[in-house]
Amino acid sequence: MSSNPPASSPQQGSPSGAEIVFNRVTKRYPGQKKPAVDELSLVIPAGEMVMFVGPSGCGKTTSLKMINRLHEPTSGTITIAGEDITSRNEDELRRKIGYVIQGGSLFPHQTVAQNIAVVPKLLKWDRRRIDERVDELLDLVGLDPAIYRSRYPKELSGGQQQRVGVARGLAADPPVILMDEPFGAVDPITRQRLQDELMSIQSELRKTIVCVTHDIDEAIKLGDRILILTEGAHVAQYDTPQNILAAPANSFVEDFIGAGSSLKQLSLVRVDNLPLTEEVHAFPGEDAVEVRRRAWQQRADSVVLLDQRRRPIDWLRLNELPAEGPLPESHDPNLMQVDRRATLNDALDAMLTSAHGAVIVTGQRDQFLGTLAYPTVAEHVHVQASQATQEDDLSQRPETPGVADPTHVERLGANDE
Ligand code: ADP
Ligand code: MG
Repeated sequence: MSSNPPASSPQQGSPSGAEIVFNRVTKRYPGQKKPAVDELSLVIPAGEMVMFVGPSGCGKTTSLKMINRLHEPTSGTITIAGEDITSRNEDELRRKIGYVIQGGSLFPHQTVAQNIAVVPKLLKWDRRRIDERVDELLDLVGLDPAIYRSRYPKELSGGQQQRVGVARGLAADPPVILMDEPFGAVDPITRQRLQDELMSIQSELRKTIVCVTHDIDEAIKLGDRILILTEGAHVAQYDTPQNILAAPANSFVEDFIGAGSSLKQLSLVRVDNLPLTEEVHAFPGEDAVEVRRRAWQQRADSVVLLDQRRRPIDWLRLNELPAEGPLPESHDPNLMQVDRRATLNDALDAMLTSAHGAVIVTGQRDQFLGTLAYPTVAEHVHVQASQATQEDDLSQRPETPGVADPTHVERLGANDE
């Protein structure tokens, strides 16, 4: 794929991301009594997606912007892949860090291709390599290059602009990507699709992604780890979503994750973790009598209609099929479907508005995989709940990484003698 990785990134194998370390980082804006960020220490492991959450004004954006030196710390150090970020010039640093913000913030007078090519151009890639990279990225974020390459931002929907913003952030294959409320400005359904896409891109690329959000559900869904901050960027808890939900470190975290944490656990499970129902499918033009016979044989009472590229276009009950003759090219514009990487939460949401009490599941390039039925999800929740009750009796709270265990230090000291 692309070459020219920054010298500071680990080059062998996956993950392709780089570790980021905050060491007692403080940011004091002029004229402010309290620091916006007060002695933040933090290790962001290479190849992980870490979500910064916390109430408005707690210092998330400031912490993020110190990583690419849009803000400079008042004191403390930040390293990327072991190298102090102040040891090189800022422009050079920023070319190695993707930056994605709300709305995509595209240049209005440049085409989609020109917008994506900004950093590769600065890096003086040759024309052909840039063109190839632009098409590759448009494909990756789900936009047909032939259609979108030469469009202007104002000709795109909000969700499409955000996709281009993500493509631009990835363009020069940086080991680190910073995102600030990247999906805050799009509607809920588009947001869900963008989140699913980001997860599937990340499972392939394994960048180090730091993402600011005010949405705890988004953090639970996307994060390998979540950093929950209070005012002054003080760490309330830094842990995996599983551990935070199972054992909130204090009442602030408890309040922040809010009620219904067992429902939130649904966001930790992907649709493809549960058994899908194989449905009878058919294509427009097939003989209705033949299709109905196939459905009867499978004891099915409905048929999923696919287009020539195996993408679902309609979901019909048998009594909605014509009595005989070819199946028409019917198209349900409101057909609910979710990606196999979607969370059970999203799937449940889609199911509740579906006439079938189930939702269509698609995989790569939106191809049909099967359906997920409500009873399958209900069974899963039931099993989880009974396991959780058993575990509660047996175990204590999981340890929080990053918090030193004094007894451990003492034991080490004792061993030295
Ligand atoms: P968050 O992203 O968590 O909402 P910010 O990092 O934007 O928080 O802000 C943290 C604190 O720093 C807030 O009190 C905010 O008002 C202040 N702040 C942010 N940016 C500036 C700035 N450029 N100048 C002065 N104060 C700022
Ligand atoms: Mg902010």
